[in-house]
Amino acid sequence: MSDARRAVVMLHSVVPDRELDARLVPRPRQELGTEELRRFVHDARAAGWSIVGLSELLDTSGSGGHRLAVTFDDGYRDFADHALPVLRALDVPATLFVTTGYPDRTLLHVSLVVEDLVRSRAALRLRTPDGPRTVECHDPVDAATQVNRIIWEAGLDTATEILGDYREEWVDYGLTWEQLHEIARDPLTTIGGHTTSHPFLPALDPQACAAEIDGNRRRLRTELGVPVEHFAYPFGRHSDTVVQAVRRAGYAAAVTTEPRDVDARDALHVLPRFCAESGRPFAATVDG
Ligand SMILES: [Zn+2]
Repeated sequence: MSDARRAVVMLHSVVPDRELDARLVPRPRQELGTEELRRFVHDARAAGWSIVGLSELLDTSGSGGHRLAVTFDDGYRDFADHALPVLRALDVPATLFVTTGYPDRTLLHVSLVVEDLVRSRAALRLRTPDGPRTVECHDPVDAATQVNRIIWEAGLDTATEILGDYREEWVDYGLTWEQLHEIARDPLTTIGGHTTSHPFLPALDPQACAAEIDGNRRRLRTELGVPVEHFAYPFGRHSDTVVQAVRRAGYAAAVTTEPRDVDARDALHVLPRFCAESGRPFAATVDG
């Protein structure tokens, strides 16, 4: 009983396996293939892990045996298209941490939109904070890398402005509120908070930090009418002030990206979490 492990695993996007090979800039920590997800679940169970919801994982009165909670961050549209069908088929409970800027369409899944744009253009005109800038796209991999870096350096919240010339062409890679309603109604899935705009929370002043955390939770609860009890720190980043704001917002627990097992002594608002990675089997994820 004492050697029973508890672990939380983080995923983001789930796409058909062949789409992974077609990426200009591979994002193994951001997307898994559907077959990989299936194998991951199968291997976890074969190794003796029960997959449980996050609340059940945190309930220490639970029965013995290894317990694993599966979580998805951000709110990619493919959660509805590709992840949920697998979860339903295999009866896997999951928590979806939603950044509300995506369904509200004030945020972009930047690297995916950039891939689309550099594939379809000879050059991109960017409206950077330092003025207009042109990036040639004859080498799409190089172009995508450059544009991602420019946006990353200017801050992700500037992406809609920087790519503003192409507003009409953006494909939405985020879940819609309609899809979120359906997901929230599914007894297998639980909705968690992940801020309004996915910022580096420790870099914000306390008011802005609280607004990101409270506003997101309020929006999810009001819009979806479900309890929102768990939070995931964007980029895993937190500080004492941030943790306090999460606690004050009413969250029962919060997860980071520190890759290790949950320990009985862990504070509920800084729980560790492993990152699933494309090409990395389950055993390597939780034992590597
Ligand atoms: Zn995130």
